[in-house]
Amino acid sequence: MTVSSPVSSASPTSPTSPTSPTSPASPASPTSPARPAGPADSVPHLGAPPRCAVVGSGAAGTMAAYRLRQVYGPTASITVYEREPVAGGRAHQIDFAGTTVEVGATVLHSTGLWIKALLELTGLEPGRGGVQLDGDDEIFGFWNGQRLTLTTKAAMASLGLGVLRSYGIKSALRVTLATRKLARAWHRIYRLQLDGEVFDSTGQLLDRLGLRHYQERSLAQALREEGARDDFVAEVLAGITRNMYTQGSGLNALAGEVGLAGAGLAGGSLYALAEGNQTLFAKALAKLGVDLRLGTAVDRVEAGSGAVRLTTAGGAEEVFDAVVLATPLELSDIALTVDGRPAPYAARDYQSVHVTLVAGQPSRDYFGLPPESGLPSMVFVADTPEARFCSLGVTGFSPLHQCRIYKFFTVDQPLDDQEVRRVFDQVAEIGRFHWRGAYPVLRPAVEPPPFKLAQGLYYVNGFESAASTLELDAVAAYNTAGLVARDFPAPAGPAVS
Ligand SMILES: Cc1cc2nc3c(=O)[nH]c(=O)nc-3n(C[C@H](O)[C@H](O)[C@H](O)COP(=O)(O)OP(=O)(O)OC[C@H]3O[C@@H](n4cnc5c(N)ncnc54)[C@H](O)[C@@H]3O)c2cc1C
Repeated sequence: MTVSSPVSSASPTSPTSPTSPTSPASPASPTSPARPAGPADSVPHLGAPPRCAVVGSGAAGTMAAYRLRQVYGPTASITVYEREPVAGGRAHQIDFAGTTVEVGATVLHSTGLWIKALLELTGLEPGRGGVQLDGDDEIFGFWNGQRLTLTTKAAMASLGLGVLRSYGIKSALRVTLATRKLARAWHRIYRLQLDGEVFDSTGQLLDRLGLRHYQERSLAQALREEGARDDFVAEVLAGITRNMYTQGSGLNALAGEVGLAGAGLAGGSLYALAEGNQTLFAKALAKLGVDLRLGTAVDRVEAGSGAVRLTTAGGAEEVFDAVVLATPLELSDIALTVDGRPAPYAARDYQSVHVTLVAGQPSRDYFGLPPESGLPSMVFVADTPEARFCSLGVTGFSPLHQCRIYKFFTVDQPLDDQEVRRVFDQVAEIGRFHWRGAYPVLRPAVEPPPFKLAQGLYYVNGFESAASTLELDAVAAYNTAGLVARDFPAPAGPAVS
């Protein structure tokens, strides 16, 4: 399926054909500046596209800008505020051991079409994804904090065979079929979105896809209902979800199945960008011709009287017709009011995640492996009290130290040097990064905040209560921008450059 370029595409009432070829992305002309704040905050929309602001330049903010540009054309005013000096949000890389390493979103899935649309827009090529390994001979280990319960070659066939041998065909087959079924149901979202459907809430979107029940129960419960063995769920599947979300099988089944699909159970493949995943968003925003304000934190957002006033940390005020919040409100330090009162949204817990990078070589002893045996490149860790970390895996190669770079995830506490040296025989360098909030604590049956908070005020990241990935947030952002388009119809169809 090919999606069309945002600057030459259709209004929400005239959907783009999913099979139409991509037209060249002509750069948008400079946007007209947003109106400075003034007394007449109620602005009519006679013939002009609305002045739009997006807060956040991650996957969600970029996709919201993409859709707004698509709907309103190349000359519409779109301002993107980003408090960090770089775009990309939780797709973020740091310098370590003579190279750069992803500390946030590391892999993308080949079935995600909105991230692919951004790739097409920028001309960036998908590179090799997943752990940067030498091939299918690499070893995956499943660790319960005391011993490796399963080791297999990384090739899907070996992994499948290993699982069949240890846990039986019934469990493996049922879980695979359930994951594939969910992936097929989810994939319908693209057809609906291209047909112009929009949803006011995450619940409505999931209902339309027949997926609400996944969000209402835990992964463990859903898989038990599918007939999966408890030890398979605890030792293997929880290890996979802990690698992706640092949360075991108690997380909601939708997020859990997204994790399992990401591990290859629903087919497809993983990729990453050689230039670093964050570059996708900076390049896409440049192509979209938005007014990108890097290093500009938004402090206050006030909706009411038909316009939305936005105040930056530097004290600058601007008024917009539509503001899309493309960042979790829990992490954004934005004072949000509607008609002078605090905006009604229920705050959620976000998971604090520590990333510990190690250039070195793990210890065979620690994992109970005989000398000379292969070392696991990925260690998926069961949710047991003995487990000191959520996952460990190769994430690159250090040209400086001529050894592999490994990445640990832990929650709440970083892995201290002493613990690192227990797991590693040789340590050339250690680096750390902390996410104050990596993703929500993905409990079942949390009612996410709606996509529209007030007239002119929209919110993407409520969706993250269901599940959080670059692609899913892009889908939520496409929907949210669609709500803007519903409320502020494009004046005379799409403006084409
Ligand atoms: C450790 C980790 C590993 C992950 N692994 C993967 C993976 O492999 N694959 C995958 O698909 N997903 C992964 N994810 C999830 C993925 O990173 C997120 O779902 C996605 O990046 C969220 O994008 P977003 O645009 O919604 O939010 P964000 O990326 O968080 O973007 C929000 C932006 O808003 C900015 N902002 C916040 N407050 C303000 C303010 N007041 N004013 C102005 N700007 C503000 C922030 O600086 C940020 O740039 C991972 C996440 C983490 C943390």
